[in-house]
Amino acid sequence: MRIETFTGGPFVENGYVAVCSASGASVVIDPGGGAADMVSFLESERLGLDAILLTHAHLDHVDGLRTVLEHASAPIYLHPDDRELYDAAPAQGEAFGVFVPELPPPDREWAHGDTFTFGECSFAVSHTPGHAPGHVILYAADQGIAFVGDVVFAGSIGRTDLPGGNYEHLFKSIREHVLTLPDETRLFTGHGPPTTVGHERVSNPFLIPHYGGELA
Ligand SMILES: [Zn+2]
Ligand SMILES: [Zn+2]
Repeated sequence: MRIETFTGGPFVENGYVAVCSASGASVVIDPGGGAADMVSFLESERLGLDAILLTHAHLDHVDGLRTVLEHASAPIYLHPDDRELYDAAPAQGEAFGVFVPELPPPDREWAHGDTFTFGECSFAVSHTPGHAPGHVILYAADQGIAFVGDVVFAGSIGRTDLPGGNYEHLFKSIREHVLTLPDETRLFTGHGPPTTVGHERVSNPFLIPHYGGELA
């Protein structure tokens, strides 16, 4: 699987294009401020678009959705517990002083335990609430990678003070669905550089007090 990162917008959000190398099947993950560059990439590589996958519905992860859909129509995947946030995208934008148009309704609902397949590639879907109620993580075990959205970052964790956020739920999600992955798993995050499970396990200052680590 080939992964390209597209960062942009006032929230410096990371969106991704994942290309299943063998077949050229492609998905967009979290089209935010880098959406126009995602479209340029898909066009220059002559790639189609199989689906738009959302880890959650905060405005910085969905505000490029229309830009992508103008390029190619593809089904939008979202967990139903984030539907309220998704439908409120224009109001989320107003709260941050950013214009966000109304979004087209999502086409498919994530469910915990789903397997999403494109080409010969697949992601296991885990429901990981806490940062947002309908947050999911997409894990490709055979590739040793996971798209973790805003659950965990290099040296940090997702904020829980936005509507629907819950600190206990976030820690439960991290404990059960991030720290259970193999240490070498590469984590592609919604903001900042990628990291690994092992690195965060021993050095993330938010996790060490709960789970130990080399500084505990
Ligand atoms: Zn978020
Ligand atoms: Zn974000």
